[in-house]
Amino acid sequence: MNHSLAELEVIVRNKICGVCTDRAVDGACALEEPSTCALFRLFPQVAQAIQSVSSDDILPYIDAIRRNVCSVCCEQASDNSCETREQVRCSLDAYLLLVVDAIEEATGKTFDKSRLQSSGGPTQVRPYPEFSS
Ligand code: SF4
Ligand code: SF4
Repeated sequence: MNHSLAELEVIVRNKICGVCTDRAVDGACALEEPSTCALFRLFPQVAQAIQSVSSDDILPYIDAIRRNVCSVCCEQASDNSCETREQVRCSLDAYLLLVVDAIEEATGKTFDKSRLQSSGGPTQVRPYPEFSS
């Protein structure tokens, strides 16, 4: 399946903003500055990083995000740490499993979601919806 970047972003917005704890009751983003959400501020890099990996393990995706997205994100410190991530305020990091799943599904890749979930990752701190199959 060939989706444009804009179409992929709409798919991911529909999946992630719908469950994000930073969403307001009216469905809008409740961040003071919605444009600061790293997931969509850096969406081209996010999509490229995820599409560069093919694995049932979340770890290569985390590596790709750190390498290609965090490395150009203004929130990352010079020692590669990220306070936003540590405080679970980065929706990309907090919902990475869902972001990967949404992009892989939209681009027609098969994905062993049971292995993804069991492999954990950095993202299990926020309330996490079940995957639907
Ligand atoms: S923080 Fe990001 S993922 Fe969450 S509702 Fe706002 S735009 Fe969507
Ligand atoms: S984890 Fe930090 S450095 Fe990486 S995208 Fe999120 S806010 Fe940016």
